[in-house]
Amino acid sequence: MQKLFCLLLLFACTSFIASAQNENKMRIIMIGAHPDDCDEDGGGTAILLSQMGYAVKFVSVTNGDAGHQTMKGKELAKRRFDEAKEAGKRFGVEYDVLDNHDGELTPSLEVRLQIIRKIREWNADVVIAPRPNDYHPDHRYTGVLVQDAAYMVAVPNIAPETPALRKNPVFLYFQDGFQRPNPFRPDIAIDITNVFVQKIHALDAHESQMYEWLPWIGHYLDQVPKDKTEREKWLAKTRAVTITPAVRASLEKWYGKDKAAEVQHAEAFEICEYGAQPTDEEIKKIFPMLSR
Ligand SMILES: [Zn+2]
Repeated sequence: MQKLFCLLLLFACTSFIASAQNENKMRIIMIGAHPDDCDEDGGGTAILLSQMGYAVKFVSVTNGDAGHQTMKGKELAKRRFDEAKEAGKRFGVEYDVLDNHDGELTPSLEVRLQIIRKIREWNADVVIAPRPNDYHPDHRYTGVLVQDAAYMVAVPNIAPETPALRKNPVFLYFQDGFQRPNPFRPDIAIDITNVFVQKIHALDAHESQMYEWLPWIGHYLDQVPKDKTEREKWLAKTRAVTITPAVRASLEKWYGKDKAAEVQHAEAFEICEYGAQPTDEEIKKIFPMLSR
């Protein structure tokens, strides 16, 4: 009897500790237009957060069925779905692909409700998406759609079949280089130097994009190495993002001048005004790697 009591006590203690630990584990959802967008803009951060035990999900709002020079339709969507699933494994995240056509996304109520449901189902603490300033209409409208989902995720009468969140999450924007009407502001910058190789390996799963479509539309298809090891090395060179002075200044704020100077690869995020507004202390709780 005493043994049973001890066992029960042990069980109660371990489940209490587990739930206390889970309380500190944030739930992050990144939402991109295409099945390689979150990967490019937030993949390094996703690896770091997933390594810490956070629940991270990528969502592609379109199925990617227009992004190729010779393939199209269902065949292409299937290939890109498989690539996204493989990339998700390499990043350590779940990957969802919504069945909306690539290149034809509009900021409709229907897609807004799809996004509200995804954020609620994930019980997200943080939502990351593109800004609505971008050359690509799918990126632009994904930005609008996610902004439109902010606040609404907490309204029970909207999409009532999926229970509303009891809080408005923190909404962040991915980094971009667009200047009008206003340039990206790097409120948060994450050092991804140590996981850059892993990020590239995960991007390498998107064969149809990294080695076929993007080089074709960018007129550098002849530069892609044939050998698989060589082409991954080439990918690391071509996908490295230059750290802008504004991102470097943000790195200095969060990591200190000395450590910031050593950072070779970074990902930056801007706080959207429509979600919860985190203080610096709350940002450090979301991204513990920023605490020093
Ligand atoms: Zn895209």
